[in-house]
Amino acid sequence: MLDLYDAINQLLAAAQPVQDTEQVDLKSAAGRICAVDIHSPVNVPAFDQSAMDGYALSTLAPGDTLLPLHGRIAAGQSGSQLPPDSAARIFTGAPVPEGTLAVVMQEDTESHSDGVRVLKSPRPGQHIRRKGEDIASGSTILSRGTRLTAAHIGLLASVGIPQISVFRKLKVALLSTGDELVEPGEATHEASVFNTNRYSLHALLTQMGVEVSDLDNIPDNADATRAALSAAASAYDLIISSGGVSVGEEDHVKAAIDALGELHLWKIAMKPGKPLAFGRVAATPFIGLPGNPVSAFVTCLLCAAPYIRLYQGQSHAQPQPLKVIADFDWLKADKRREFLRAQLALDDSGHVQARIHGNQGSAAMVALAWGDGLIEVPPSTPIRRGENVTFWSTQSLLNGGTRI
Ligand code: AMP
Ligand code: MG
Repeated sequence: MLDLYDAINQLLAAAQPVQDTEQVDLKSAAGRICAVDIHSPVNVPAFDQSAMDGYALSTLAPGDTLLPLHGRIAAGQSGSQLPPDSAARIFTGAPVPEGTLAVVMQEDTESHSDGVRVLKSPRPGQHIRRKGEDIASGSTILSRGTRLTAAHIGLLASVGIPQISVFRKLKVALLSTGDELVEPGEATHEASVFNTNRYSLHALLTQMGVEVSDLDNIPDNADATRAALSAAASAYDLIISSGGVSVGEEDHVKAAIDALGELHLWKIAMKPGKPLAFGRVAATPFIGLPGNPVSAFVTCLLCAAPYIRLYQGQSHAQPQPLKVIADFDWLKADKRREFLRAQLALDDSGHVQARIHGNQGSAAMVALAWGDGLIEVPPSTPIRRGENVTFWSTQSLLNGGTRI
């Protein structure tokens, strides 16, 4: 059996990042992978700016005197040079007039018809956001290979960039296999099973930011499997299937791909999971996930997702685990690396604890839907309540990085 991390490394070594790029508007950029380093074309703030509603002062020692008022500057307006020992009414976001030494907030002043009295002497530069203080013109604000979040998109907008170059979306063909499967909404029979993977994997892949094409469910026979796979190979960047990769007589995926391309059938020492196929149909990469719904989901997150991120052009994208406290015992540890469906919660003193679902079966979708992520149990390593354990959030496994 192959160790999971060896399998992931083999997948990553085979991934060839896409090169083609396209320009998209900011409103279409969420989840896309930035294809270039971005340098700010402007300073932020663009000018010395008031951070408060109050008064711009041209003195730091106003004492008890009434300072004469020299203008009123709202956001979007500009004022004229402040004469010595005077003040201008100013609002948050407005440019401070030349000659300003500090801004005082209006709560620290007393307003009179013929001027303003300052109740608290200001520090030099107080409440002034300096030109270029947040972002200096020309500095790098985003790196090639970043998956764009709402915050990145706001950052681009804040420096006046309307469009961004991103890598083209991968086209992924998704197929399920199994004669027993019926679609949700269809009539069932005695031995039917609802097709689950077709929908859960479609959703996962969509969340990874690829363009998913649903190529239907393939019946369990050699000709149909071969025909579906060879048709998919010509039009897609990647083919993903579920089921049919064990070694049963009804598992036709291996034989079909052996005939059409090349296949490695791995037995990965993990639970849920185990069988995973990786290869190519003609020149198109192929990943065959196991059939059990939880196994398909978890191997998609742990094995297919890192490969897809690299293929998409995302860099620095290793998912990051958290160390949390086990709020459970797991004493019969398996020889395989296990991934338990888990939820995080705070204990009475605010520490993050993980609890696990009572049903850790590889078909128990209810546990997957309940959880926030997976607790990793290293091979043959029992866990006792109160120990530190490794938690992988679904979100981090999906998109990489530290998000939880
Ligand atoms: P297989 O790998 O094809 O032998 O499938 C293993 C188990 O997963 C069997 O119980 C299948 O019925 C079940 N299974 C396979 N594909 C799906 C699917 N798309 N949705 C729900 N269950 C599935
Ligand atoms: Mg099957």
